[in-house]
Amino acid sequence: MARRLRSRGGTIVTGDRVDRIEVDEGRAHVVRTTSGQRFEGRRAVLADVVAPTLYERLLDPADVPDRVRDRLKAFQLDPGTVKVDWALRAPVPWQTPPPEPAGTVHVADSREQMSVALQQVHAGQLPAEPFLLCGQMTVADPGRSPAGTESMWAYTHVPQHQTGDAGDGSVTGEWGYDDKERFADRMQARLEKLAPGFGDRIVARRVLGPRDLEARDANLLGGAINGGTSQLSQQLIFRPIPGLGRAETPVRGLYLSSASAHPGAACTARPGSTPHAPPSPTTGCAAVPCDAPCVSTRGGAAPPG
Ligand SMILES: Cc1cc2nc3c(=O)[nH]c(=O)nc-3n(C[C@H](O)[C@H](O)[C@H](O)COP(=O)(O)OP(=O)(O)OC[C@H]3O[C@@H](n4cnc5c(N)ncnc54)[C@H](O)[C@@H]3O)c2cc1C
Repeated sequence: MARRLRSRGGTIVTGDRVDRIEVDEGRAHVVRTTSGQRFEGRRAVLADVVAPTLYERLLDPADVPDRVRDRLKAFQLDPGTVKVDWALRAPVPWQTPPPEPAGTVHVADSREQMSVALQQVHAGQLPAEPFLLCGQMTVADPGRSPAGTESMWAYTHVPQHQTGDAGDGSVTGEWGYDDKERFADRMQARLEKLAPGFGDRIVARRVLGPRDLEARDANLLGGAINGGTSQLSQQLIFRPIPGLGRAETPVRGLYLSSASAHPGAACTARPGSTPHAPPSPTTGCAAVPCDAPCVSTRGGAAPPG
């Protein structure tokens, strides 16, 4: 993507945060960054940020219609996320490995148990037995770690606003060091059950809580990876809010090109590429198919993450 953009005369600037989109006579025309750089958008400004950031922080309140500000009050984030990375000295010792080595593995004892875990999250409870989405990165790409080892991660969802812990009550939801380590132990115990000896293969472990994820990517508000809930109430014509329902914004020449816009999250680059959005390096990028096999280690096939 970067090569394609540069080949067409584009420039990529990294490490500089956009903190203002300036509007002149109803049209977005300048983007300013925290370092003081100023970029003029001749044809369009594509904002790859979550909807609240665009309308509540990057735009001057005077440039946002009252109805948009009001409806944004009902905008719902998706749940937070905790992600664990493991460096393993050997492949995962699955007790019942899938027929084909799987790059992506979903961990739940049954569909019912998966539903219980997700219901607990929606009820503000930290799940007792979290549903895990795991990546066996070396299985998917042998270049990820030395031969014979495995680079593995797993993530699971946690409430944005935790009111209790459905497990042993040890995790407060503050997501400091202790919370993260205790919850990572809970996630790891799920794997240990399905792959006895998993823990003995660990060389190193890193835990990222909701705040760590947001610190690394400002779009992951509270660890939400979807740019807003994917419940029907905030999908299709309701995304990000009723009345917008597509990448166009009330500001001419300004487009919401993040997962907060229809069709929502995932690594597809589709948000923003509506028929009405002008061709651009961002919107022009092809959808990236996820070709990693998607299986659950128990029970039936599970949806891709
Ligand atoms: C741990 C994890 C696992 C996931 N697994 C999957 C998966 O298996 N399959 C799948 O399809 N999707 C997955 N997703 C979701 C997918 O990554 C997101 O839906 C997708 O990246 C959203 O794209 P986006 O363009 O909206 O935002 P992002 O990809 O977050 O891109 C936004 C970029 O803009 C930058 N940014 C934000 N604010 C500013 C600012 N003010 N100024 C300058 N730059 C800014 C951010 O740092 C970031 O680089 C996963 C996400 C996470 C976190």
